[in-house]
Amino acid sequence: MDVETIELKDASGFPGTAERLLTPASLEELAGILKEARAGRVPVTILGSRTGITGGSMPRSGWAVSMEKFRRLDIGEGRTRCGAAVTLNEIAAEAGKTNQFYAPDPTEWTASVGGTINTNASGSRSFKYGSTRNHVLGLLVAHIDGTVREYKRGEPIDFDVPELPLPATTKCTAGYQLKPGMDWVDLFCGSEGTLGVVVEADLKLLKKPKSLLAGVVFFPTMDQGFDAVDAWRGVAGLRMLEFIDFNTLDLMRPSYPEIPAEAKSALMIESEHPDADAWVDRLEAAGALLEASWFGETDRDRERFRVFRHGAPERVNETVLRRGFLKLGSDFAVPVTRTREMADYYYSVLKERWPGQYVIYGHVGDGHLHVNLMPASAEENRLGNEIMRDWARQAVALGGTVSAEHGLGKRKSHFLRLQYSSDQIEAMKQVKRRLDPDWLLGNGNLFPED
Ligand SMILES: Cc1cc2nc3c(=O)[nH]c(=O)nc-3n(C[C@H](O)[C@H](O)[C@H](O)COP(=O)(O)OP(=O)(O)OC[C@H]3O[C@@H](n4cnc5c(N)ncnc54)[C@H](O)[C@@H]3O)c2cc1C
Repeated sequence: MDVETIELKDASGFPGTAERLLTPASLEELAGILKEARAGRVPVTILGSRTGITGGSMPRSGWAVSMEKFRRLDIGEGRTRCGAAVTLNEIAAEAGKTNQFYAPDPTEWTASVGGTINTNASGSRSFKYGSTRNHVLGLLVAHIDGTVREYKRGEPIDFDVPELPLPATTKCTAGYQLKPGMDWVDLFCGSEGTLGVVVEADLKLLKKPKSLLAGVVFFPTMDQGFDAVDAWRGVAGLRMLEFIDFNTLDLMRPSYPEIPAEAKSALMIESEHPDADAWVDRLEAAGALLEASWFGETDRDRERFRVFRHGAPERVNETVLRRGFLKLGSDFAVPVTRTREMADYYYSVLKERWPGQYVIYGHVGDGHLHVNLMPASAEENRLGNEIMRDWARQAVALGGTVSAEHGLGKRKSHFLRLQYSSDQIEAMKQVKRRLDPDWLLGNGNLFPED
């Protein structure tokens, strides 16, 4: 077992400090660490790939336990058994050899199985396939008392919980999603390292579609981009519907001079078993810049477009960190019918109140746009945080959620009470106390006051 004292950062630049960094190499070592931590009342924070952007994997104190040595990867028919540290990249490469794929695609492919389960990650393909929880068949979990249990999908929890209201969104990862009779797998998905340690997971694999059209479709106006979202939402086989606004295109232009000069918005699409003629008609009807848009049918094309789309959050992050601030990005989702209303609200607030640089992009098909504010001064940073709180309230008022896919971690834990009442949060805490009575796992995640 390796031991050292460390300073850490997650992908948002949020810092953490641990007295020890432990890298167990076996289940026995991991169980021993957890037992020792419990006996000594030492907080334990679990590290995945640290691509999280809410500070969830950043310890405030105690021990950081990296799962990096849990690397089993067995591919079967329709399923894979993976160690917690296996990355989405690695699953894609191995599953691809058997003509299968793992549907969740948070675009950050270095993210780990353990991390994506604990944030209930989703991303661009969730438009068709939903969030990570839909693809988890079973979990091997180590508990804080050192016991280890295998949980199969459908195995109900053995204690009573109330039903907490879910927002009318297609995705939500704000707190525990409690429901009487729910199963253990659903309880652990999205629990942000606060209930147990995911050691291995059984995940669903799907057959690759025989044909797939991928594209980055450019539009001469923002409205045409949004109109196309409404028009295309119901297209059979569409599995990705991502929005890119004019500011994001401008941010990307230096690296992508081929972005058409007249483009003011873009939609990134993937369509399984596409009807090419129907797509041409659809693109023309939507007023897309057909000749200047990018299309492809191969894995390489898709990867090229993914890298382009992924470049947006990467550039935002680099810019903001260079200026000495943390990423200030929204993760609110609203019911899909309120998508345009929420987008209009974002832009009107930005026009009235935000003096600085910003970009908007993301999972528009799920009513889930990421607004990224890029502060250049302490005052802008303060104002940006104030605006984010305003938007969180507005998202909830429209029937939405304060976190669709990133989780709340430590940076956004203050949003939980905007979506849930004190009694409902207390119900979540009771579950936490049952599984982690001394409140040692993932301290500071979800429940800020603890
Ligand atoms: C450029 C960029 C783009 C991104 N785009 C998306 C996107 O489109 N959609 C999306 O959903 N996310 C996105 N993310 C966020 C991030 O990739 C996800 O949150 C991912 O799920 C984190 O995985 P990880 O392995 O890095 O986990 P970490 O960041 O290491 O940890 C995340 C949380 O899970 C807990 N955890 C990790 N492993 C375990 C385990 N084995 N057992 C128990 N708890 C554990 C941690 O304690 C922490 O609370 C993006 C990030 C970046 C940097």
